[in-house]
Amino acid sequence: MSVNETAKFDTRALQQRDSAHYLHPFTDTQALAAKGARIITRGEGVYVWDSEGHKILDGMSGLWCVNVGYGRKELVEAATRQMSELPFYNSFFNTAVLPAIELAELLTEVTPPQFKHFFFTNSGSEGNDTILRMVRRYWDIMGQPQKKTFIARHNAYHGSTVCAASLGGMDYMHEQGDLPIPGIAHIEQPYQFMHGQGMTAEAFGLKAAGWLEEKILEIGAEKVAAFIGEPVQGAGGVIIPPPGYWTEIQRICDKYDVLLVADEVITGFGRLGTWFGCEYLGFKPDLMTFAKGVTSGYIPLGGVAVGDRVAKALIERGGDFNHGFTYSGHPVACAVALANIRLMRREGIVERVANEAAPYLRSRFLELADHPLVGQAETCGMMAGMVLVRDKATLANFDPAHAVGMICRGHCFDNGVIMRAVGDRMIIAPPLVITRTETDTMIGLIRRSLDQTLNDVVRLGLRG
Ligand SMILES: *Cc1c(COP(=O)(O)O)cnc(C)c1O
Repeated sequence: MSVNETAKFDTRALQQRDSAHYLHPFTDTQALAAKGARIITRGEGVYVWDSEGHKILDGMSGLWCVNVGYGRKELVEAATRQMSELPFYNSFFNTAVLPAIELAELLTEVTPPQFKHFFFTNSGSEGNDTILRMVRRYWDIMGQPQKKTFIARHNAYHGSTVCAASLGGMDYMHEQGDLPIPGIAHIEQPYQFMHGQGMTAEAFGLKAAGWLEEKILEIGAEKVAAFIGEPVQGAGGVIIPPPGYWTEIQRICDKYDVLLVADEVITGFGRLGTWFGCEYLGFKPDLMTFAKGVTSGYIPLGGVAVGDRVAKALIERGGDFNHGFTYSGHPVACAVALANIRLMRREGIVERVANEAAPYLRSRFLELADHPLVGQAETCGMMAGMVLVRDKATLANFDPAHAVGMICRGHCFDNGVIMRAVGDRMIIAPPLVITRTETDTMIGLIRRSLDQTLNDVVRLGLRG
């Protein structure tokens, strides 16, 4: 970026205006005001630029969503065209808009075959709220109104509305606002590094899925409506389930007549090298939540893919379903989603992830496991995570109070790569279109950041 371009922004003034009036999500406003926000001004491909002119490789695809990369003219043009044609009309009172009709139709082609019906929301959170209401409605229609309880997992992320945060398993969210709401139970996550050291992955997979069966029996199967999980947990730190976990979950749900819900907000639309994560992991959900990648984040859109079993009951026996949002099926959002999915098909992005991008990311990312700070590194599709440890031999953790992950994240930012810290788990989920050369650049920057973090840790005496 040229000096002229940089000089367009007065960063200090922007930071002051930012903290004067703008309350950020998931942010300590006072701490942010002291530090000043990094202001992102532009994006192209896998890179973003900040107001100081730094070019940063976006290893997190914005927030797990900019799957086709920044600066895609097709998406911009689709939005512009639809804005001029019809910026808004609702779908409430026997009306419909063209892009929503077309999108629902196109989604039947890219989702697994049990999905032929789609409900639109503005976000993943609203998608999960919709699922809770829809599933309870389903069991009412089926004459089992007592089947209301959802089982979810600790350290899951399902969004931040009251219902979605309750389904999620984040204690720090539950603590604020008396959550979870009644009717939601949690089981432990399938995180082998934490809960299954010394076991084979297969044995741990069966054990972790078994926690669902125990919980169903504890509550009583006649009261359990559904199990919800992210195929691969994202915000919890890229927790990759052991092989066999999801097929065993499926078997247990079938056995007790519990609906299976896949929250595909991150894993949908190609991230694992299949259109949806459940295809990669080999299970067949009754409902799926989607958002993020459906528009590559260019405009808000979320929704629910409703499988035949639930759709049939709702449609043939349900009458009115008293739920929806002003912007359900928003024409501009749907038009952008259509352009995004068509672009992904035309460029064969999902196939490229499966055959090229994900295997290459894997080979390069796993090299980082040789670093003295890294206790474990793993990938699944275009999601990757590593644990920073105090002692590589014993895999002993750092004291969480030392926030070593945040030190590492800071170095990453300064070196020009965005990597997220979840405690001491460092994670990435780069745009699906990242090239080999860009992957090489990213891994190089991560390694340099790990070296600098190691220096800090040694200097501060944190290695014990
Ligand atoms: C981001 C996310 C959500 C919430 O989506 P919003 O659009 O932020 O409401 C739900 N589930 C998963 C798995 C997510 O990653």
